[in-house]
Amino acid sequence: MKIICVGRNYADHAKELKNDLPTTPVLFMKPKSAILLPGKPFLYPEFTDDLHYECELVIRICKNGKYVQARQAHNYFDSMTVGIDFTARDIQREQQKKGLPWEIAKAFDGSAVVGEFIPSPVGGISGDIQFRLDKNGETVQVGITSQMIFSVDKIIEYASQFFTLNIGDLIFTGTPAGVGPVVTSDVLEGYLGDKKLLDVAIR
Ligand code: MG
Repeated sequence: MKIICVGRNYADHAKELKNDLPTTPVLFMKPKSAILLPGKPFLYPEFTDDLHYECELVIRICKNGKYVQARQAHNYFDSMTVGIDFTARDIQREQQKKGLPWEIAKAFDGSAVVGEFIPSPVGGISGDIQFRLDKNGETVQVGITSQMIFSVDKIIEYASQFFTLNIGDLIFTGTPAGVGPVVTSDVLEGYLGDKKLLDVAIR
């Protein structure tokens, strides 16, 4: 399986990192080894001094597909959760400055935290699905799916031109504003609506 991630998919987040708004989805990948399963602690990596959380809506692919059209895309996923796209911001900035790839800043072990999956709405993600991240009991990020620059259906259409979608693949759909650093002993909790689906301690 693979993890397809979308960068800069919320205008307010692109702005906070001083990035231009994209005209096509910005995609990158994480390998299977990046997944941190529910209930496991996250170990702060020694290669960074500026580890950031990015809370995102995550969908799971339930049907193989290539060149999927946006209007058919809702047939290709059946579950969703909240996840964290952990990012070594210091390394990402250095890589970006040099025009180099991001993987060492974003695809390392444990960088894809995935909550417990629940069924996604029949017919796809339309309207407002709210998700949020609490750090040590305080809300730090709130996302509303209608504020995505590229909808889940558009992301599937775009990504499947390049990458065959396979059952079990995950798509991290981008983070809203409010990203920030974590330190050891922080506790992060992710919610979809009022349901807590993710709980991770930084060690
Ligand atoms: Mg992200």
